[in-house]
Amino acid sequence: MKMNRRSFLAAAGAAAVALGAGALGAQASEKTSAAADSADAVAKGGDYDVVVLGMGGAGMCSALSAKENGAEKVAILEKLAVVGGNTNFSSSGMNAAGTKYQQAAGGDAATDTVDLFISDTMTGGKNWNNKDLVTYMCTNSAAGIDWLDEHGITLSDVTTMGGASVPRCHRPADKSAVGAYIVPLLQEQVEQAGIDVFMETPATELVVDDKGAVTGVKATNSDGEEVTFNAGAVIVATGGFGANFDMIGMYRPDLVDYVTTNANGSQGEGMVMASKAGANLIQMDQIQTHPTVYQENGALIGEAVRGAGAVLINSAGDRFTNEMGTRDVVSAAELKQPDGKVWLLLDQALYDNTPVVAKYEARGMTVKGDDLASLCGQLGVPADEAQATLDTYNAAVADGGASDPFGRTTGLGALETAPFYAIPVGPGIHHCMGGIYIDGDNQALTIEKKKIDGLFAAGEVTGGIHGANRLGGNAVCDIVVMGINAGKKAAASL
Ligand SMILES: Cc1cc2nc3c(=O)[nH]c(=O)nc-3n(C[C@H](O)[C@H](O)[C@H](O)COP(=O)(O)OP(=O)(O)OC[C@H]3O[C@@H](n4cnc5c(N)ncnc54)[C@H](O)[C@@H]3O)c2cc1C
Repeated sequence: MKMNRRSFLAAAGAAAVALGAGALGAQASEKTSAAADSADAVAKGGDYDVVVLGMGGAGMCSALSAKENGAEKVAILEKLAVVGGNTNFSSSGMNAAGTKYQQAAGGDAATDTVDLFISDTMTGGKNWNNKDLVTYMCTNSAAGIDWLDEHGITLSDVTTMGGASVPRCHRPADKSAVGAYIVPLLQEQVEQAGIDVFMETPATELVVDDKGAVTGVKATNSDGEEVTFNAGAVIVATGGFGANFDMIGMYRPDLVDYVTTNANGSQGEGMVMASKAGANLIQMDQIQTHPTVYQENGALIGEAVRGAGAVLINSAGDRFTNEMGTRDVVSAAELKQPDGKVWLLLDQALYDNTPVVAKYEARGMTVKGDDLASLCGQLGVPADEAQATLDTYNAAVADGGASDPFGRTTGLGALETAPFYAIPVGPGIHHCMGGIYIDGDNQALTIEKKKIDGLFAAGEVTGGIHGANRLGGNAVCDIVVMGINAGKKAAASL
């Protein structure tokens, strides 16, 4: 096993999550100097069964799965000095239907079905989704939760996310952020499985033979040398391009002035490499904005905070949308507020029950008032109107949402326990729904829908699963379920 800097990396990943995406660059550069002492694991290339590009969630799941399904020699190339990519920042959880944990939770969660999960995902994605891929992901989602369990990764608490008809978002038992929990544990599994990991080794080009098959990958090693890996199969798991404003400008010029929640490593080069090797890129203009982003640093305020009951108010002290609507709808509603000011409003009970909020407070992102009037005074919001808004909302919570003026029936939680907190939010670039065109084997396809031998892809680098709008919790489901599938199918192709 060739992994350098493991203990530092695990700590860096967890710390980065606690701090948010804006902190990753700093973490990574600190780490680079700390890691400079280590001389091991400089990539020299060579012959492998499977080479995985990118050590985020999809990369680690697919590498493990490839190994467990018969690939003997497996390597991961990671361009940064820190593992985890955007997966580090996943805050709320992983959607899955029909799990043992939903049964244990009881209530609406226990009534969930694969069909309802498929239907919610298709509706959320405006039916732009590839239904075959969605069906595969949803059908295998409970097995994905079990697979994680078998690897010592337990997501046993169930909560509700926007666009979900019932609670199906799985997170750690202590309700903490999912990414900070799963990345170090997956990393440990990768290490134990004997997978070779090469850090600070960006893949630069896929090697294609004269028949159009991918037979390897070129990379730059941590000493700056060009190396070539020959591989029976390459799995591209390099994530999206949500931090590459040149690409965003190319596909969505209207979003270039937005902040981004994404890790610096989300530069989209996996898509470009795959395209040069013949893969079709689909739905590249489908870029999701997330409605609760702290505008000063791009930090995401996880959807689970709304799922626990938080509401959005404007500067008149009014709610203006169903906060549990899909991200595109909530983002659009925010942009219509007269002076563009929007706050997420929550109380002490929610704070106590949702551990991640303390992290937002520690970063100075919350405004706190001993009572609602004091909070409103600090925000410049009329307190009487805000109180009336909460009275109406709390009454709707009591009747299960029947009287909610915006039709909110999920994620209801009374807001009545002082002190109160507000977090100023707005939309930020969050997820690339488009990417490499794949089939049900996670194999890359050409524009003519022809399989490219030797080329597989998984995670945010792929397109088609999330359609025009990804539901919160579905990306972690994607990287786990489709990551496992990519590894299995790549191993089977050898
Ligand atoms: C703040 C935030 C919160 C989120 N919360 C949730 C949530 O609660 N639930 C949910 O379902 N989804 C959530 N998401 C989305 C989800 O985290 C991502 O879509 C998912 O983790 C992407 O995983 P991935 O493995 O495909 O890519 P990543 O995790 O981004 O990993 C890609 C890796 O590839 C590396 N790489 C890139 N280019 C190269 C190259 N050329 N060579 C080698 N390596 C390369 C990167 O450095 C990175 O380590 C969130 C996203 C963000 C940003």
